Amino acid sequence: MIKKSDKIHHAHCHGVAVADVMGHTNARKIRRAVGIGCIVNAVLMVLKMVTGHYGHSDALVADGFHSLNDFAADLIMLMFVGISFRGPDSRYSYGYGKFETFSTFLMSSFLIIVSLIIGYEGIESLVGYSRGMELEQPDIWTVIVVLFAMAAKEGLYHFYSSAGKKAGSKALVANAWHHRSDALASLATLIGVSFSQLFGPAFRVLDPVASILIAVFILVAACRMIAPAFGELMECSLPESDSRKARECVENTAGVDSVAHVRSRRNGHYKVFDVGVCVSPDVSVKRAAEIALAAEKSLNDEFGPYVLPSVSIIPAEE
Ligand SMILES: [Zn+2]
Repeated sequence: MIKKSDKIHHAHCHGVAVADVMGHTNARKIRRAVGIGCIVNAVLMVLKMVTGHYGHSDALVADGFHSLNDFAADLIMLMFVGISFRGPDSRYSYGYGKFETFSTFLMSSFLIIVSLIIGYEGIESLVGYSRGMELEQPDIWTVIVVLFAMAAKEGLYHFYSSAGKKAGSKALVANAWHHRSDALASLATLIGVSFSQLFGPAFRVLDPVASILIAVFILVAACRMIAPAFGELMECSLPESDSRKARECVENTAGVDSVAHVRSRRNGHYKVFDVGVCVSPDVSVKRAAEIALAAEKSLNDEFGPYVLPSVSIIPAEE
């Protein structure tokens, strides 16, 4: 009996062990790429904020806050990617995945506040402008800095997407697109500063308009990040399609009469499934344990290494 329960325990841990090995190689590659992005974002942040402040462009300062956010995101990823891939131990028996989730939640909250402040200041400038207050002309340096930032971001897009493809990391490829969208966001700033630079006072209003646009951009990005992080922290169920797939593969396991329940949640990189299966009350404990093991294996086969299945046996009626 003791031997059998050992075997089940081993099956539980199997997915974790594989994921752990994959995680370490990936984590190192991701970390190196993110480190480079982090440095670029820090440089852009300082350049944009200083030039924006002294060069009289709200939009460029707002853009600088966006870079501050990107820099913070990179920093969090650098600090937590290693931790979140760490396998379970006696202190955190489900692993450390939620460290990353929690930091994402914190960072997005911060970002929402920043976007509201930028938006408020942009609206304040617009109201002042509508009352006849003259807006200051952005400096020529603001145009140069924006162009430089856009080129740097497009470069990071190419670097991340090729590094992501090599490491087989979807996170890095997603990050690559983030860099490209940053370049596009800076286009609003570019239009704001260059039009008011080239075409005179009538176009200076484009600068606060651009800063409001960027605030909206940051707000939307923050809400998109905070929603899944909040869901995970609150143990929201996995998408319906995942539960359906899990139910199907357990139902197709030999010896399973029916599936009583499928409960699911996400824990960091893992999909967690708690499945109750009904088996004939006449089968031996040994056979029931084999059925549970086979059901867990089918979930592992279906969802890959990042799944924590747990199958419990319920005696079927009659
Ligand atoms: Zn960004």
